This record gives sequence, structure tokens and C-alpha cells, in this order.
Amino acid sequence: MNYTQDNIVAIASGTGYAGVGIIRISGYDLYPIIKAISGKNDLKPRYAHYCNFYDGKNEVIDSGILIYFDNPKSFTGEDVVELQTHGSPVILNMLLKYCISLGCRHAEPGEFTKRAYLNGKLDLLQAESIADLIHAESEASAKGAIKSLRGEFSHFINAINERLINLRMFVEASLDFPDEDIEFVASAKIREKLEVIRNEIHPLLKTTRQGVFLNNGVNTVIIGQPNVGKSSLLNVIANEEIAIVTDIAGTTRDIVKQKIIIDGVPFNIIDTAGIRQTEDTVEKIGIERAIHATNEADICIILIDSKSGITAEDKLILQHVPDHVKKVYVHNKIDLSGETPRISVESEKTSIYISAKQRTGIDDLRKYLLDIVGFQSANESLFIARTRHLNAMQKAVTHIDTAFEHWEQLEILAEELRYAHTALSEITGEFSADDLLGEIFSKFCIGK
Ligand code: GDP
Repeated sequence: MNYTQDNIVAIASGTGYAGVGIIRISGYDLYPIIKAISGKNDLKPRYAHYCNFYDGKNEVIDSGILIYFDNPKSFTGEDVVELQTHGSPVILNMLLKYCISLGCRHAEPGEFTKRAYLNGKLDLLQAESIADLIHAESEASAKGAIKSLRGEFSHFINAINERLINLRMFVEASLDFPDEDIEFVASAKIREKLEVIRNEIHPLLKTTRQGVFLNNGVNTVIIGQPNVGKSSLLNVIANEEIAIVTDIAGTTRDIVKQKIIIDGVPFNIIDTAGIRQTEDTVEKIGIERAIHATNEADICIILIDSKSGITAEDKLILQHVPDHVKKVYVHNKIDLSGETPRISVESEKTSIYISAKQRTGIDDLRKYLLDIVGFQSANESLFIARTRHLNAMQKAVTHIDTAFEHWEQLEILAEELRYAHTALSEITGEFSADDLLGEIFSKFCIGK
């Protein structure tokens, strides 16, 4: 427990008007503050106390509920006080100011959660999932964030890490006592144990990738001329849940980006025709931008008018779509062209025939889009993840695979296992540099 920290305070309930507002204070020895604000001295921890909240001149600012959590049984692991007032920004700000005059410091973004992490109440991955939960844009993302917060993702990582530690002990021991017999027995077990780890970590890498999709969305570039039916298509494939569109950091305004949700999975749709339209006068730059957009894509939908076919401009962009981007050719307006609704796969090229207007073939397309990014069913039990986790997991998998290849060369094996262990430990924050922590928590909102 870290007792040297100062007391921090923030409005925890967000900005704007609401029925109820919450001020949260965390630190140590909060009784003088509680006494000054409420006049109360002796509070039963974790009980709701109805009381007046005063300012420095003994005037009542508001009345409401005060809850005191004594350490370590609190969110941050420190002493915590929550003041529930009417949700008026003026009242909340008066109380906030008074707390600051009583010696509290205004909390930095994510500082409550950071303290919870530093005091061992949560691991780093769980702490990050709180921010992901707050910013979740679909039900599936929110559910995934809760799963991570409850430790489901950490549990998988810790289980593999335990196996790794066990195996590393074996390997290090074999290195330290290079007696032939011991080495022989150890080697057999090493291979067996490595195989178990490998069989566990590969599926976990896949699930982590899906967790990142749930968090960030599947980047989907859509190639298709104006009037080919893009808006109509997006509306029909996202029929159950409307995306809550928020500002996505790092996106520039002239990129036409729309978020849709398919069976709970967010898709970021980048409309390259839109990019071309905004650059009317400098067509070349527009095309270059469109090409650039495809570089970060996971999927490329080529939307074609089934009567007139693919255009020369579309072909130009298509030439530049990297190989790893999954492509699907969607032929729209089959009600006009007379084609039958179907999926056809010819030499790895998937074509789907639909009518956005008549909603024909849409289920096939939805299923296909989910399928190519690894989602089999809408109700899969998935946790949310971040790109940081995916990168570390990818690193760990590479080292485990190399270890498996060289399992008989103990020095290489030892080193690869150590790298894999470090990479996995970075995810849960067992090993983490201060600057990484700074970066993670600075992206939280104040009061969390
Ligand atoms: P966008 O410019 O690519 O976004 O195209 P829109 O979605 O705005 O569609 C352009 C026009 O095509 C609209 O009048 C739509 O109603 C029509 N449209 C879209 N899909 C179909 C379809 O499957 N069949 C028919 N007949 N018309 C369609």
C-alpha cells in the first residue's frame, strides 16, 4: 500500500445536468475533510449516510448521500469518500472547490484507476478495460469490457504465464546441472510442456485479435461509385443497432468514416468514393488518399452495380489493396439486373449478389463479413482487448514458436521462453515502464 500519496478529488459523474452527481475523494486520513463537509465524525464504512454538505462558511450547499470506504476495501485501495448530490454542475463545482481548499488536489485523468492498479486492486489489463467499458460503442463491446474487467482475459494470460514459469524453472535447472540423465528426462518433459503452451496461446491470440475488433472496430474500406447503393447497404446490414458515433482520435476530418454495428461487432466503414468527391479538383490526391486508406483496412468491400460492373477508378484503387486485406465483391441491385441472390467463390474470389433495396442476400453478407474476421456467432463469449495487448501477444507467440523449433538447444530455449514471459507479463502490467503507465492512464476521463 502506498501511503505517501496526496488526497485527490474529482467530479466522477461526468459533465452536464443530471438527477444525481457524484464527487469522489481518495487518499488517507479523510476524516478532517468529511467533518468539514458534512459535520459527521464517526461513519460506518460502506453505509449510505444522508447528510448536509456545507461550504467553508457553514452554509448548506446541498444535502445528499455520503459513503465512506475505509482502505483497503475501496475501489482505489485507499480511503475513499463519495458524495452524492443533486446533479447540478454549480453544486458539484462548489463542493469540488471546497474540497480543494481543504487540501485535496484535483485528480488527473484516470488517477483513481491508476491508484487502484498501483495498490494491487486491479491488474493493468483490468484497469484499461474500465476505460474501454466507458467508451464502448455497442452492447457486445460493453459486455466484452466487463469480461476483461472481471479478469477473464487476465486469467488466460496468468494461466499461460504459470506454465511458462514452471517450464522456465525446468530449463534453467537443466542448464545449471547439465548432467546427461537429468537433461534427457527434462527434455522429454520440455517438449510436452511447450506443446501445451503452444496449443493454448495460439487460440488466445485469435481471441485477442477479435477483442481488438470489438474495441476498435473492423476497418472496412468500401469501394464503389456514388449511387451504387452504399448508404442503402450500410443501413440494411446494420439493422439492429445504431452506432453511437464519437470522435475517433487520429482520424482526419476529410476521411469519410462511418461506424456500423453488425451483430454487436463494430465496423468502421471508410467510403473511398467520398474521399474522391472531397478532392474533386485534385482527383489524383483523392485517389492516393483512397489507396492509403486501404493500407490500414481489414476488409475491402467492392460494391458493384450488377448491371454496369466495376469501374476503372475502382480497379485502380483495387490494384493497391494489400494482399492481407480480405476482399469481397458485392453485386448490388440484382432486382434490376435479374441476377439470382447467391454467394459464389471462384479461385478465392468471393462474390455476393444482393439487393439492398429489397433486402435480398443481406444475411449472407452479414454472416460473411463476421466470418472473415473470425466471428462465428453473435453470442460468442469474448473479452475486449487493445492493440497493445495484441502486439505483446503476437510477440509472445513468435517466441513460443521459436522455442518449440529449438527445444533441444537449451540456451536458445531459455532465452525465447524468457522473452515470451516478459511479453505476456507486459499485458497484465507485471512488468511495465512508467511511461507506458502514463500513456495508458492519461487517456481516461477525469474522475475514473
Ligand atoms: P450511394 O450513393 O452509393 O450511397 O447510394 P444510395 O444508397 O444512396 O443509393 C442510390 C440509389 O440507388 C437510391 O435511389 C437507392 O434507393 C437505390 N438503390 C440502392 N440499392 C438498390 C437496390 O438494390 N435496388 C434498386 N432498385 N435500387 C437501389
